[in-house]
Amino acid sequence: MAASVKDVEPTELWKGAKRWVLAVGKNVSLAIVEIDPKIAAPHPVLKHDHEEIIYILGGTNKLEYPELGKEWIMKTGSAKLHDIGVGHKGGPVGDEKLYVLEVRAPPPKEIEVKWREKKS
Ligand SMILES: [Zn+2]
Repeated sequence: MAASVKDVEPTELWKGAKRWVLAVGKNVSLAIVEIDPKIAAPHPVLKHDHEEIIYILGGTNKLEYPELGKEWIMKTGSAKLHDIGVGHKGGPVGDEKLYVLEVRAPPPKEIEVKWREKKS
């Protein structure tokens, strides 16, 4: 199955933030996240039991690791790996919408199950 953001229903992550899951395998998943600075609530601090790579497709992301006291400004074209268990939060800088490509490995169980149901 080949999917485009036009074919897939996004899920709301938090107010103003949406995720389109485009491909899910046993070991990896791919999604696009859009965050609209005009309506977005602050990004919660998230921690995962999977590795995650984010790549900025458009806009500027202020990324923070609050527990480690680190932050980065990520511009279009830059990428960052989040290790398992590292708390992170991010969000758009300025008025431009933020578009993030998100690779998660292994994929979170709930999206893997949803994906299989949809395919069958
Ligand atoms: Zn994350």
